[in-house]
Amino acid sequence: MTDNEPKAPTNFIRQIVDADLASGKHTTVKTRFPPEPNGYLHIGHAKSIVLNFGVAQDYGGTCNLRFDDTNPHKENQEFVDAIIGDVRWLGYDWDDRLYYASDYFEQLHDYAVELIQAGKAYVCDLTAEEVRRQRGTLTEPGKESPYRSRPVVENLDLFARMRAGEFPDGARTLRAKIDMASPNLNLRDPVLYRIRHGVIHHQTGEAWCIYPMYDYTHPISDALEGITHSLCTLEFEDHRPLYDWTLDNISIGCHPQQIEFSRLNLQYTVMSKRKLTQLVGEGHVRGWDDPRMPTIAGLRRRGYTPAAIRDFCHRIGITKSDNTVEMGLLENCIREDLDHSAPRRMAVLRPLKIVITDYPEGKVEELAAPNHPKDEAMGTRTVVFERELYIDRDDFREEAPGSYKRLVTGGEVRLRNAYVIRCDAVIKDAAGQVTELHCSYDPATLGHNPEGRKVRGVIHWVPASRAIRAEVRLYDRLFTVPSPDGDKDRDFKEFLNPESGAVLQDCLLEPSLASAPRAARFQFEREGYFWQDGKDSTPARPVYNRIVTLRDSWAKLETKGP
Ligand code: ATP
Ligand code: MG
Repeated sequence: MTDNEPKAPTNFIRQIVDADLASGKHTTVKTRFPPEPNGYLHIGHAKSIVLNFGVAQDYGGTCNLRFDDTNPHKENQEFVDAIIGDVRWLGYDWDDRLYYASDYFEQLHDYAVELIQAGKAYVCDLTAEEVRRQRGTLTEPGKESPYRSRPVVENLDLFARMRAGEFPDGARTLRAKIDMASPNLNLRDPVLYRIRHGVIHHQTGEAWCIYPMYDYTHPISDALEGITHSLCTLEFEDHRPLYDWTLDNISIGCHPQQIEFSRLNLQYTVMSKRKLTQLVGEGHVRGWDDPRMPTIAGLRRRGYTPAAIRDFCHRIGITKSDNTVEMGLLENCIREDLDHSAPRRMAVLRPLKIVITDYPEGKVEELAAPNHPKDEAMGTRTVVFERELYIDRDDFREEAPGSYKRLVTGGEVRLRNAYVIRCDAVIKDAAGQVTELHCSYDPATLGHNPEGRKVRGVIHWVPASRAIRAEVRLYDRLFTVPSPDGDKDRDFKEFLNPESGAVLQDCLLEPSLASAPRAARFQFEREGYFWQDGKDSTPARPVYNRIVTLRDSWAKLETKGP
């Protein structure tokens, strides 16, 4: 992160922190980011990361990275490693404060024993289905479990035997004894521990066959780490009473404040890990880091910068109201970042050969081309002009109305950074396909307007003999509609965008790109921003990903309507 990066705007959470520091409730700020390693992080998680790490950073406090790893059958080390890499890539650091909820299994167990001893938890023999049925509804109170008044000694004994592995999965649970008539369903004797045999936990192996539930684990983990502000998303608002109950009923000397904010929802994509897992598992995308995925790994491979993602998170802000953010906003963040930082280059994506018939054979001119139209400090590079060139097929039409500013038969156009040319003849194959254009050039137009006439169009080009052949992947939005999971009657996968992964082979890049650093991002003039794919690109066979288009073509479609 650079020092001149703008500070995050204030929000209601920062105001709470300000007040807590001013009143002396806290003298420092400690937050945590608590991902469950059951998938890769997505842009929604980035919102939480930027909030938690950002608040800690701006107030001189600390933020822990803590894996919420209480569901071993869905979690694994690949996800742990990916999450660590992604948070670090976003620009954050937790020093030696990398924790796992599973680090606390022994303490969590001891606090459960404490609750049992205090008559505040009991071992229940009902099945999960029975517990669910007896839970009641929003309008009806639940039914008390017949095991609710088990004596403490019996509970202690059964819980010890649960831990020792005497009972099969689902046979018993440990439940908090709170209130089966509570209007808050989360307080109707929630399950604290369940039995899970036969899973090898990625951190604790086979040490445990009972696993604590999230709602019980989370407050205790927060308190053990001395968290001051436990920031989470709104769906946990109804769980806050249980968070508080847990800490109020055990002998722990710390009670973090849980504060909820609204989740990020983003148009033209899906964000739930369950759905992202489906896309990966069923092969709709090529892995979690497919450049069309809303995952951090995907955005990263696509070519997004950490700064653009942080900027996005600042712009969307932190509130308590649910909303869906336009994809255009995320795209604009990377566009703005790259507009000033990415050098310009020329790349012809759909090559059409042109021959400048009056340009001497064998002659080569080295012309200086600016790397950035608005930033002279970025310098120039050499572009090579010669008799045979390639332009983009889309920049030529045999006939076109006067409003068409590119090349037409008999018309003139400027080749960017070079001369004005005229198309004299169109060469076609037997099938009538245009294969080549014969053009002439005006030698007086290098850096000068032509005499006595106006040439409005400017197109890009590459020299035929030295252009670099490359594959270009024109990534686009993964879904064709703003809310792919918004239609109850249709599966979100029906809205996948078949064009989102279009690949062009045999594109031609300007020769200077041969020496481009592998991780450099460029604006291919008139085409968009691009960089080399981190996995598939090789010097012999470069592969470029489109990071983002130059303009938001979707916005235009939307205002036009279907
Ligand atoms: P999902 O519903 O996609 O599986 P999750 O909430 O279960 O997500 P976790 O790994 O538990 O995923 O999330 C870690 C943290 O990130 C939590 O504090 C969670 O509130 C936050 N988070 C998850 N999704 C979003 C989102 N879309 N916007 C903001 N914060 C989010
Ligand atoms: Mg979660």
